[in-house]
Amino acid sequence: MKTVLRIFVYLRRYPALAIAQLTCAILMTVLVIVFPDQVGKVTGDYIPNGNIDALWISVFIMAGAFLATNLFNAIRIILNNTFEQKVIFDIRSDLYAKIQRLPMRWFDNKRTGDVMTRVTEDVTAMERVLIDGIEQGVVATLQLLVVGGFLFFQNPALAAVSMIPIPLLAVGALIYTRKAPDRHRRVRRVTSSMNSLLHDNLDGIQQIKAFTREEAELTRFNKSSNAVRDATLHLMKAWAAYNPSMEFLRNIGYVLAVGYGGYWVITSGDGTLESRGGVLTAFLVTLSLFYEPVNRLNQLNQIVQGGRAAGERVFEIIDADEEPDLDEGELLPRPVKGNVVFNGVTFSYGDEESPTLLGVDIQAEAGQTIALVGQTGAGKSTIINLLTRFYEYEGGKISLDGIDIRDLKKSSLRGAMGYVTQESFLFNGTVRENLEIAKPDATDDEMWAALRAANAESFVREFSKDLETNVGERGVKLSVGEKQRIAISRVILKNPPLLLLDEATASVDTETEKLIQDALETLMTNRTSFVIAHRLSTVRNADRIYVMDHGKVIEEGTHDELLARDGQYALLCRKSLIAEGELS
Ligand code: ADP
Repeated sequence: MKTVLRIFVYLRRYPALAIAQLTCAILMTVLVIVFPDQVGKVTGDYIPNGNIDALWISVFIMAGAFLATNLFNAIRIILNNTFEQKVIFDIRSDLYAKIQRLPMRWFDNKRTGDVMTRVTEDVTAMERVLIDGIEQGVVATLQLLVVGGFLFFQNPALAAVSMIPIPLLAVGALIYTRKAPDRHRRVRRVTSSMNSLLHDNLDGIQQIKAFTREEAELTRFNKSSNAVRDATLHLMKAWAAYNPSMEFLRNIGYVLAVGYGGYWVITSGDGTLESRGGVLTAFLVTLSLFYEPVNRLNQLNQIVQGGRAAGERVFEIIDADEEPDLDEGELLPRPVKGNVVFNGVTFSYGDEESPTLLGVDIQAEAGQTIALVGQTGAGKSTIINLLTRFYEYEGGKISLDGIDIRDLKKSSLRGAMGYVTQESFLFNGTVRENLEIAKPDATDDEMWAALRAANAESFVREFSKDLETNVGERGVKLSVGEKQRIAISRVILKNPPLLLLDEATASVDTETEKLIQDALETLMTNRTSFVIAHRLSTVRNADRIYVMDHGKVIEEGTHDELLARDGQYALLCRKSLIAEGELS
């Protein structure tokens, strides 16, 4: 129930729209009783008394009431949809804003498809609770009260008899509602699982084709899709048992009304037989207007239960803990020099027995290039993850220009850094849009200068629309080397005092390699650089090399010092774990 109430908080943003919409719905509801009232008068009074003039007036009243009802309905539909779209927009916007503020740890444990399902489908399902809650819920309840009252006004005894099934309907609804959340949660869960699988497979379609996994993946997808079918059918089975049972009870209400009403018309002494017949006819028409909202409330219950399960998933994101210091913290004093010190830093991604980093000491003076080398899994990327505060270090201290990075506002810290990842990520947009990420107000000249410095100018000029060329989803329209150079020019444009570079291991042809290497050297000049190095040329030029193993720094020094020491570093070089193998 708490979830449902939280959903209703979104109403507060649009009180005028909600009230206007409700007013239309209420007016429509009130007008509902005009027709049965007139039918009662026509059959019970005007026809027996041969009053043709009154009959025509009645016809106009009924037509007018229907016209007004539908006019209000038209306005209500427009208001309803406006309201609906505004609320969906707000929830999605809140959700996306929140997602961007969540820590990397959160993303580690979530599948992209699942998050996408929450933002798209779950928000829509959740919003239905609001729209239908007001629309159907309030109006149906109101209609129930107005029409119910009118039934008692028409004939209290008949009204009481025809409402005998109501307590049973209430008990049925209660039983159904208690079990429904689990069924709906299951549908949401398996749907999300199917979407996640689909997302993964589309992302990895090349691998699926390369390993000719099409059949196997189809089987896996069908299994997931089947889970959605089963969960939905399970839900529908319960609904199939519940809804017709409730319908049956409603029908019993009519049967009781006709039975008891017929008996009353035959045996009662009130008025004439015709007038009693008129009362019964009007009563039966009114009764159908009484039981119709009961049906709507049942349907609404189904929507609310679905929305509640979806709402839980949406609020799970909204309630998640954000990254600390996104808005608060010190600003980095300018100009940033780029002195970085790791002092006995420890860190663990999870509850593993051995920490990922253990007592790491690293010192980088302003403008120096620090190379991190070591086998896969040694903890090199983790060092960068901690420096950017994608993850928060747990023990020891990391400082930048003498300030503990934990005291810094994150945007200020990250603003001082440029990060070139191994697989350069380009957004699906134009070259210009990808460059603007680094500097939104960059001029064309600045962009071309950055591209030139990254050895990317010539191929961008060759594109038919140069800066306006679309690089395609994940940059698939460009070669690996081209993507890398655009990514490098993006960082050149940002011009950060601190550079974090995960050197690409993907092989490109020697000429491109040289172009990229030159671009990186340009990039590293005059800034503190942390490089996860895979190439000998990089480590050779580094001011200091840190050799990592199982989360610890086991050796440090320059290339020559470390070779002379003939330790782990020399061994790594011999085993060509550092690429190129040009060590002589
Ligand atoms: P390297 O960059 O030297 O290859 P990493 O720093 O990426 O090594 O990884 C160090 C260890 O931390 C590895 O055992 C790796 O499996 C683990 N690890 C890396 N990233 C995560 C993560 N997001 N969640 C849990 N464990 C991780």
